[in-house]
Amino acid sequence: MFRRVPAVPVALCVCLVLASAACEGGVEGTPGGSGVRDPYFPKAGNGGYDVTHYALTLDYAPGSRRLTGRAVVTARATQRLSALNLDLDGMEVRSVTVDGTAARWNRTGQELTVRPAGELGEGATFRVTVRYEGTPVTVTDPDGSEEGWLPTADGALALGEPVGSMAWFPGNHHPSDKAAYDLTVTVPRGLAAVSNGEPAGERTEGGRTTYTWRTAEPMPSHAATLVIGRYEIRRGRTPDGLPVHSAVHPGQADASRAVLARLPEVMAWARDTFGPYPFSSTGAIVAPADAAEYALETQNRPVFPGAPDLPLLVHELAHQWYGNSVTPTSWRDMWLNEGFATYAEWLWEEEHGGDSAERTFDALYADEDVFAFPPAKPPTAADVSGRPVYDRGAMVLHRIRQIVGDTAFRRLLRGWAAEHRHGNAHTGEFTDYVERRAPGHDLSGVWEDWLYGDGRPDLP
Ligand SMILES: [Zn+2]
Repeated sequence: MFRRVPAVPVALCVCLVLASAACEGGVEGTPGGSGVRDPYFPKAGNGGYDVTHYALTLDYAPGSRRLTGRAVVTARATQRLSALNLDLDGMEVRSVTVDGTAARWNRTGQELTVRPAGELGEGATFRVTVRYEGTPVTVTDPDGSEEGWLPTADGALALGEPVGSMAWFPGNHHPSDKAAYDLTVTVPRGLAAVSNGEPAGERTEGGRTTYTWRTAEPMPSHAATLVIGRYEIRRGRTPDGLPVHSAVHPGQADASRAVLARLPEVMAWARDTFGPYPFSSTGAIVAPADAAEYALETQNRPVFPGAPDLPLLVHELAHQWYGNSVTPTSWRDMWLNEGFATYAEWLWEEEHGGDSAERTFDALYADEDVFAFPPAKPPTAADVSGRPVYDRGAMVLHRIRQIVGDTAFRRLLRGWAAEHRHGNAHTGEFTDYVERRAPGHDLSGVWEDWLYGDGRPDLP
């Protein structure tokens, strides 16, 4: 994620409603949890199962802003389940089935609690089908930024970090549960609908066009996107043969032409710097400038509100390695996304005639805001996208580089991406990894002072 202008924090009442955990009907299993104990978003995600696949069939009418959806969530039970929760904010649920049999359900806040007719055994694979419709909501985060479903003049834009995806499909909306996706969306003829993964079909009938997108590699739900509007579609290949699918809103076509022409060059640089690209296609989505307040590293093709500059393109493409492939275990580990993507910008600058990373580090050291809190311990949910997570997170990486040297540091960057490719990782795993792979260096001060410590650490 990258926000050009720091958002003004607004006071928000975060009302936490405990979902009913009562076990009814005499089944033996226990209900899955209504959250996964994320330190900042306790209701995000759900316990007791692991989603392997989402099949979303959507129909959107931009005029009325009405979305009709069917979500088929395929998951594996990690305990005996009498009930399970999905996260869904807004929308009206019409029906829920589990493995084809009608299930009882109720809603409390963002929790859709589903009670299957019979217990689900531990290890069992099951399918929950939810039919729903309504006008999707825009979610306002604790830091005041807007996500979820963002209507635009000719369509809509769906952005999910951290918890916006629950506005447009029911799911296990926490980064710790990644899954494959198939998305089919029907829109009025003349509009494009672009998502993650690769296109898998397009059919026009009776004035409406249906687009299908397939994401085979695991994706955290906050990196899922859907843009609908009068986009121009650009297809090509990188010199490596990687498919490029980009979508550019016509109003941004001229402004984005030069920067998008450099996407293959950025991808080649990123491959050399971070290791093999983790996904099967790349690209960019350039939305109208007023469509969102920030760019987001949506998987395969990041979304930009208006034409990005080159550092921003570098930042969001770097997130494909750090964020989408190596995904934080919880929102506390956000610096593992943003510190790396920010450091990618520093490295790009350093290698393309700009400031050295050392110089960028020195300039930031003088900036008090960067030290407002430790990057691995944001004080509240409103701080997970705060400046220390980005800049001080990148400074942590630079301190490691200063200590272990350039060659070992490069190896760490690539190795970390390889070690947790298509997985999840938390900060403790990162510090362990660095200590294991760069033996003989004392990094304890970096962890204590730069990663977890309050205030501005002394320079060595
Ligand atoms: Zn970012």
